[in-house]
Amino acid sequence: MKIETLAIKSTQMTDSNAGAVASPIYLSTTYERETDGSYAHGYIYSRNDNPNRQLLEKSIALLENGQVGFAFASGMAATTALFQAFKSGDHIITPDDAYFATNVLIEEVFGGWGLSLTKVDMTDLTAIKQAIRPNTRLIWIESPSNPQLKISDIQAISELAHGVGALCAVDNTWATPIIQRPLDLGADIVMHSTTKYFGGHGDVLGGALVVKEDVYLASKLRNIQKLTGAVPSPFECWLVARGIKTLALRVKAQTANAKALADYLNQHPQIEAVHYPGLPSHPQYAIAQKQMSDTGAMLSVQIKGDAQNAMNITGKLALFTTATSLGGVESLIEHRKSIEGPTSLTPDNLLRVSVGLENIEDLIADWEQALES
Ligand SMILES: *Cc1c(COP(=O)(O)O)cnc(C)c1O
Repeated sequence: MKIETLAIKSTQMTDSNAGAVASPIYLSTTYERETDGSYAHGYIYSRNDNPNRQLLEKSIALLENGQVGFAFASGMAATTALFQAFKSGDHIITPDDAYFATNVLIEEVFGGWGLSLTKVDMTDLTAIKQAIRPNTRLIWIESPSNPQLKISDIQAISELAHGVGALCAVDNTWATPIIQRPLDLGADIVMHSTTKYFGGHGDVLGGALVVKEDVYLASKLRNIQKLTGAVPSPFECWLVARGIKTLALRVKAQTANAKALADYLNQHPQIEAVHYPGLPSHPQYAIAQKQMSDTGAMLSVQIKGDAQNAMNITGKLALFTTATSLGGVESLIEHRKSIEGPTSLTPDNLLRVSVGLENIEDLIADWEQALES
């Protein structure tokens, strides 16, 4: 089955009770035991497992072509569960421009547990090689990266990791499995903030991990998920599973909009730079063409001038709501530096744009008036 079909079929629950076509939501926290102590339906207690979470986990695993999926209450809860699988003294390499909270989490929470971190430019294979230490256990990739849309070579970095006995994990939130499947490129683990494209409507928080092989790491992650309990509710699982049904269509249509907007902005005299992997001028254009089947619906722009000039534009745009987050049906824009703080490497004049499903002519006209006025 192709991914569009998988998305529909994998999120459809067989309901032997009533024959419902749309999945029921199982709110029950506990499940009935037999007199011999066994569980006829396989469910015990909702923190451990429940029908809605199981459906979602199987679906995400199928879409990413991995063996086991794990759903969490947020993307950060998913990332946390993965880092909890490592031990004191282990070393992790991450991109210097990773999703801001990812690096803060390792430094501020896991630093105290004895995990050490080296941040590198993930587009520079030599820098990654130099950052590897004898105790390196994980290389964490985010591609395209937030917010500068840098592209990392997933296949080459997975090989580097495996060469020293480390694992490679990819935050695939910005690409989605519709346009990039890291496990097929050699990575071991995929992470998602399902708050973004999977949910797709800005109304549910969620996260997921998918592992390529059902080996030791998978049972460890299952244990961490059950014991630490950062799990999504059945209703949240249901919302994400519903989002998956239209994921392919949304990503394709939003990508088409993003391409057209990137082309428009790229030739505008008020724009200093457009960061979008679909532009041939993008520094890692060739890698993007190699590992992605399309180039996604996120872009960032640097406005000529300073932070204030950039922030003024967000006030003039009528169709791009100024708000954080991304991946929903509505277009959003955000000045990243002011949310990331002074230690961020993000340029002062950069605006991050999540392109939605509105009509592209309206979106371009909105930018036209904002840049002229
Ligand atoms: C939003 C996001 C996260 C964090 O996910 P939450 O669901 O907000 O916890 C991690 N990585 C990327 C790339 C994101 O966009």
